[in-house]
Amino acid sequence: MPELPEVEVTRRALAPHVEGRAVRRLALRTRSLRWPIPARLPQILAGQTVLGLERRGKYLLWKFTRGTMISHLGMSGSWRVHLKAAPAPGAHDHVDLELDGALLRLTDPRRFGALLWHPASRGDVANHVLLARLGAEPFDPRFDARRLYSETRGRSAAIKQVLLAGDIVVGVGNIYASECLFRAGINPKMPARRLGLARCAALVDAIREVFTAAIGVGGSTLRNFVGIDGGSGYFMLDARVYDRAGQPCTVCGTRIRKIVQSARATYYCPHCQKR
Ligand SMILES: [Zn+2]
Repeated sequence: MPELPEVEVTRRALAPHVEGRAVRRLALRTRSLRWPIPARLPQILAGQTVLGLERRGKYLLWKFTRGTMISHLGMSGSWRVHLKAAPAPGAHDHVDLELDGALLRLTDPRRFGALLWHPASRGDVANHVLLARLGAEPFDPRFDARRLYSETRGRSAAIKQVLLAGDIVVGVGNIYASECLFRAGINPKMPARRLGLARCAALVDAIREVFTAAIGVGGSTLRNFVGIDGGSGYFMLDARVYDRAGQPCTVCGTRIRKIVQSARATYYCPHCQKR
């Protein structure tokens, strides 16, 4: 499943081919993905210029004068850029966005992705129902130790659960949660409200470090987004604890332990993450 780093790498790969380009045609070969695709979207977009391609959480925001197209990769989606003639669409190639100079194709076998439209008349897209309650962006300077500290005071759930909830900071999915807590030296079972300010600072740093590393790994695949040979475009940073149960910790050699929290696997080092 594509996580925040994949979406950010997708954004970086697509942006040079879309920003400042006019839409020639939007071809829809399905009426709905996770939700119905607005039937009028082809007419709305035709002739409009993409002003910018932004990201909020795992949503790509395609900015136009008349509004914002919101897309999501769901469980299995990917965008590809075709600079010459695109091959005939396959069964899972649901959307073609034809711009001046490039054709962008959305492939989504499981169809849990999304393609939606937020007209400018409804105000800032940040207020869209899917975006309004998202937590801070990991690289937003306003997401800092003090904010993490204050927003965890009322939370007695385990810090791992609180990270996964996504309402304090976005993008820390199940794999990344284990990796971030390991780097911060925090036990995943620790009640969030018991983290002191210094440990909140360590966690903020760890989250940024993990995402920087992951986006760096994905960045080396940028060219795979152009043409047809690139595979899914999904990638993973070298996990230090995730899926390493029984193997030695890379720091202290203690065996990595696996536990289950709310039906999701968590991996941690019982020595480096004592509390
Ligand atoms: Zn260790």
